Amino acid sequence: MNRLAHSVLTAVFLLSSCRSSHDEYLQLKPTKRVVGHAAYNRLIFAGDVMFSRDVRKQMKAADDDAMPFRKIAPLLAASDIAFVNLESPFSDQGRYFAGGLIFHAEPSTVAGLNLAHIAVASTANNHARDCGPHGVAFTVAWLRSHGIEPVGSGNSAAETHRGVVLVRNGVRFGFLGYTFDQKNGNWKDLDDRIAIADIDALRHDVPELKKHSDVVIVSMHHGIEYNSKPSAGQIAFAHAAIDSGATLVIGHHPHVIETQESYKDGEIFYSLGNFVFDQYQRTATQHGEVVEISFMGRQILATHVMPVLITKTGPEPEESVPAGPLDVSPELVPHSGQNLFGKSIVLARPETREQR
Ligand SMILES: [Zn+2]
Repeated sequence: MNRLAHSVLTAVFLLSSCRSSHDEYLQLKPTKRVVGHAAYNRLIFAGDVMFSRDVRKQMKAADDDAMPFRKIAPLLAASDIAFVNLESPFSDQGRYFAGGLIFHAEPSTVAGLNLAHIAVASTANNHARDCGPHGVAFTVAWLRSHGIEPVGSGNSAAETHRGVVLVRNGVRFGFLGYTFDQKNGNWKDLDDRIAIADIDALRHDVPELKKHSDVVIVSMHHGIEYNSKPSAGQIAFAHAAIDSGATLVIGHHPHVIETQESYKDGEIFYSLGNFVFDQYQRTATQHGEVVEISFMGRQILATHVMPVLITKTGPEPEESVPAGPLDVSPELVPHSGQNLFGKSIVLARPETREQR
């Protein structure tokens, strides 16, 4: 696909996702792929993004709202879908705390997410209510008005649990998001607009979303901070997601990298660690990972992990990556080709090579 065609398609997809009426996805049908082009997609996932405290201070000092993403944006923007966990809600109201554990992202800092072409942001996490009930609604509306789909929170419980579907090269990618906690010690009640990591809800939501998507991806904010191994709760939730029909589980919250597991036909990344964060006290919190999953149709073709160093001016790849986005000819895939990290595509499961 040439660059113009790609831009046009991207624009069409962005427009369709901007419309964002969550009843609308029910009508989305897989579009027929262009003859000769495989339904090949590269999805990129990164961990915790927080625009408060020292991150905010650094942005102010540089007078650049997109500063944390400047070094990493070309890599993310070259993917078909880029995902992060947004740990700080956006709000145009309320008090800002320069320190501590109540996060507040200035609305203008959405510029970094846009620079990196983030398409999906998890908004289900323990900081989701840091800017109060207004912050929950504002974050959902603000992301959508900037072409980013929130997952794990919405304007109602029903909307949240329905998930979102993004169509890329004819393949429908469905996303759901959940968090083990939404209070962070600040609230007594539950806000049902934010999805709690409840296995019964998961068992209902995944098959429902699967009716309208080819691939279901579950975002999981869960685990124990600074632990390199997943907890029993994370494992049970992730396994239940795959057992219910999900293909991928993407975890975050522990602020350090945790293990990866191939479980049945799915892949689980228990924690991607930090991505945009200000935890400079420990070595482990200054290293995150960016995961690229290549899909052929609905099947995982390959997975690659790129380690990133978290610096005061944002994450940067720890291994060399190609200078510009790679133009991989879809005709060559899966026979040969490189991924976005410049690594050779190695078939994860040759038997799943699928022609749609
Ligand atoms: Zn968290």
